[in-house]
Amino acid sequence: MRTVTAYATPAAKAPFEKTTIERRDVGPKDVRIEIAYAGICHSDIHTGRDEWGEAMYPLVPGHEIAGIVAEVGSEASKYAVGDRVGVGCLVNSCRTCENCKRGLEQYCLGDAVGTYNSTDRDGTPTYGGYSKEIVVDEDFVLRIPEALALDVAAPLLCAGITVFSPLNHWNAGPGKRVAIVGMGGLGHVGVKIAAAMGAEVSVVSQSLSKQDDGLAFGASAYYATNDPATFKELRNSFDLIVNTVSATLPMSKYLSMLRLDGTMVNVGAPPEPLEVPAFVLMGQRRSWAGSGIGGIPETQEMLDFCAEHNIGATIETIGGGDIDEAWDRVVASDVRYRFVIDTASF
Ligand code: NAP
Ligand code: ZN
Ligand code: ZN
Repeated sequence: MRTVTAYATPAAKAPFEKTTIERRDVGPKDVRIEIAYAGICHSDIHTGRDEWGEAMYPLVPGHEIAGIVAEVGSEASKYAVGDRVGVGCLVNSCRTCENCKRGLEQYCLGDAVGTYNSTDRDGTPTYGGYSKEIVVDEDFVLRIPEALALDVAAPLLCAGITVFSPLNHWNAGPGKRVAIVGMGGLGHVGVKIAAAMGAEVSVVSQSLSKQDDGLAFGASAYYATNDPATFKELRNSFDLIVNTVSATLPMSKYLSMLRLDGTMVNVGAPPEPLEVPAFVLMGQRRSWAGSGIGGIPETQEMLDFCAEHNIGATIETIGGGDIDEAWDRVVASDVRYRFVIDTASF
């Protein structure tokens, strides 16, 4: 066991405390990673504030991890000391179910193990990336290409794959009109990736305050929902909408933006249910879908795609003592566009 510095929240809505956690000894197939950066995902906040229920305290969040391999197990062969690596939302899965066999570990039908707030195979709680080190089975470690700096790569491990996977699955590309709803952590990476895939990208945001950034990220149009004319103007406009909003929205207004046979994919995870009247789906043979993170092979594909297209997150770097304030700013939609914790500050 190794004692490692971490930031933990001891209870729902309690401030973070600098503390220590124990990391297991490096097993035969494990990799020990010195964490350089950890992104702050809105899911950390939903979990930490117990908005989704089932939070286990003390909680060390963080599933957007980038760092350097410091030690490898005796039977581990994928990584060497000094390699640049990442860890996302999963650190294990059953590996035998039909979905795991297809590399879709995020939809494991058995026991997948989350990077934090989960119970590991040895019965201990998992602790995430708001810490100096983590020990992970090599099969759940990703390679960060040289072209990506570790700080801007970290958010790709959750935000990046969560938008890449549905854009990929629903064939965003040339000739497709794609809208990203909500331009926060997920949304801003979604704009960059969808544009790099060749789609015609629009942003649907609450206001025009981030319009210049959205256009710079690759959007060709930017709309604000605080202008009531927007919903009318955008009726029947998009083939694919990726909804990244962390709060409940009036879904029928947004679904009305889909053209014939268009699909709305929900990746935002508000604690309250979303209501959808049947008629808005029937109207233009619209589909309403959901998508969760991504499997290990697709996450590597996403990192390689981002390196090839020079896509990193646009970040604000903070120290361990700034996490509470950063969480408040994320909830207030006041993040440009992902907070990344620099563990050198610990
Ligand atoms: P974020 O940085 O807070 O971004 C969410 C954006 O939604 C905000 O920037 C804001 O964009 C918009 N928004 C927030 N409140 C709103 C409201 N009341 N009405 C309308 N728009 C609002 O959060 P994130 O880290 O990107 O995560 C977004 C959501 O995805 C969270 O619920 C998170 O838990 C979930 N998530 C899901 C998965 C998955 O696997 N499906 C993975 C990661 C995260 P504008 O300012 O542009 O309006
Ligand atoms: Zn996340
Ligand atoms: Zn499985």
